[in-house]
Amino acid sequence: MRSLATVGLGALALAAIACAREPGAAPAPASAPAATTTTAAPATPAATTAPAATTAPAVTTAPAATTRSEAFSSERAWGHLEAQLAMGPRAQGLPGKDKLRVYLRDHLIAGGATTRELRFTHRGRDDAAPSEFVNVMGRFNPQATRWILLGTHYDTRLWADEDPDPARRAFPIEGANDGASGTAVLLEIATVLAEHPPDIGIEIVFFDGEDYGRADVLEDYFLGSQAHAIKWTELYGASRPDVAVVLDMVGDAELMFRREAKADERVPWLNDILWQAGRELKLPAFAGTESQGITDDHDALLAIGIPATLLIDFDYPWWHRAGDTADKCSPASLAQTGHVLLTALVDRPFAVPRTKPKR
Ligand SMILES: [Zn+2]
Repeated sequence: MRSLATVGLGALALAAIACAREPGAAPAPASAPAATTTTAAPATPAATTAPAATTAPAVTTAPAATTRSEAFSSERAWGHLEAQLAMGPRAQGLPGKDKLRVYLRDHLIAGGATTRELRFTHRGRDDAAPSEFVNVMGRFNPQATRWILLGTHYDTRLWADEDPDPARRAFPIEGANDGASGTAVLLEIATVLAEHPPDIGIEIVFFDGEDYGRADVLEDYFLGSQAHAIKWTELYGASRPDVAVVLDMVGDAELMFRREAKADERVPWLNDILWQAGRELKLPAFAGTESQGITDDHDALLAIGIPATLLIDFDYPWWHRAGDTADKCSPASLAQTGHVLLTALVDRPFAVPRTKPKR
């Protein structure tokens, strides 16, 4: 039940192409990058003495971490996944999505992020009237000139339309993996950044309306990222992130990523940075070198020239099915994604080639 024949997301699977990479033919790390440099944060000093009994630590329960990557807690991330499932399905028009939007905003604010929302409307093919969607953003270290964007969709699908049981197809999915997993990772990263402020700026974006479309209606998918791209100048002026990484379905207990193929064509150095960190950390999800074309929220960013890629494990038998539940996911998988993002992009400098992404 692990077929590559269904590469792609929803109707947009049509355009997806899986292209195998020769084993051993993985591209060299970013060649001669004319780097703009960034400075990795000094390691947070580990506490050498026990805190005085009178001062209760505010948040941290784990031993003092020396890097942000080490500070990422799989347990806390998992708690965010479970909290989302407890809200019920987070599909358009359902109360769970409104509850989650408040949760996202409150968590970002509690972490000291500068928060914003992008509201937009969309009328789907079968809709009598447009409805409103909301992207939620939180910026850490907004003064920094260099910044990165980390995004994921927080909405879940209104129909389990891929379920083998026709009786289940009319009902919303729980979206433990498709929706909650990426959201949980970025919520935990927000906690880490609150505790260990980054040197670069980090914009966390929770996209709405990624999974709104019926299976055969291309234009009703990826609404939040498309709105973000359209409103880019309004949101950010001329400022652009060095890189953007989108997460989707990062919770599978048997997590294995493939390098997104369009990113590999246009910004292979970005995938190299992530996979290099994954190899260093000996994370099984990054052990492979294959690539696979998937249409998702990173496409709208690539289309406006932002170096963007996607971390997704699309080899997930419960995709858009009633079975997309927490028992198929694991805290360790959430941590693999969090560790790579923090190691590769926040804990140490990374190089950005001067060339623009290939179109
Ligand atoms: Zn989906």
